[in-house]
Amino acid sequence: MRKKPDWLVYERAVARLMSDQLSTELAVTANAHVTGRITGIKRQIDVLIDARHNTDNSRRVIVDAKRRRRKIDVKDVEAFLGLMRDVEATHGYLVCPAGFTKAAQHRAQSYVSICLLPLDRLGEFDPASWPACRDPKCKTGRIFWDGYPEMTMVLQPVGVVLVPSIRKSVVHYVGKCDRCSAFHVKCTECDAVLLIPHADEDDVGHQCGCRPAWFWLASTECDRRNIYSAELHVVDLVNGSIQTVDRRSL
Ligand SMILES: [Zn+2]
Ligand SMILES: [Zn+2]
Repeated sequence: MRKKPDWLVYERAVARLMSDQLSTELAVTANAHVTGRITGIKRQIDVLIDARHNTDNSRRVIVDAKRRRRKIDVKDVEAFLGLMRDVEATHGYLVCPAGFTKAAQHRAQSYVSICLLPLDRLGEFDPASWPACRDPKCKTGRIFWDGYPEMTMVLQPVGVVLVPSIRKSVVHYVGKCDRCSAFHVKCTECDAVLLIPHADEDDVGHQCGCRPAWFWLASTECDRRNIYSAELHVVDLVNGSIQTVDRRSL
């Protein structure tokens, strides 16, 4: 008997591969749920790619990892084109483990790229090594890191003019749980992993044990076309600036 493929591992491998190839200007969400503009219902998307720093969903790309052993055919491509239209994606990637028919390739035209990723190519990939979601209510979620913002601390010695200020850069990981979508931040200095809730009005922000000059805060934003997204911000207390470092559409 052939071993049943672990489709969740496949889906996570596709998300990781996609994210690793993209510019950090793009925010990647694994297992996203976005409201369809035509259907009005939540559509599940294996990998959603949107702008990272702006509330702008006009150049959206989606990826579908096909969980099947047979070849992708015309019907699969048409269903995917329907999903793309509903969530207003400008381009799509259909990733399949077992190939595709010629007709499917013709139907894909230039809107859809069909990619082949056989199951036996996953190699050593093991999402069990990903950190678990920090929300105790979320039992199976893993944190999918997709951005790596760098923050600079400037330490100016008090009262001594001749001593130069000390600049120290700290890299962070930012990402989302791939089941409940909660934002997470990891500080590479103290290794703290913070859960940043986004729909909590009373939330005043989160800092790691380093007590840096900034804190993390998430909120819901809306773009020009009335599409909502959850956004993760870093608030710089010294400069009074707010930067969007990660997003996911709602
Ligand atoms: Zn979770
Ligand atoms: Zn820290």
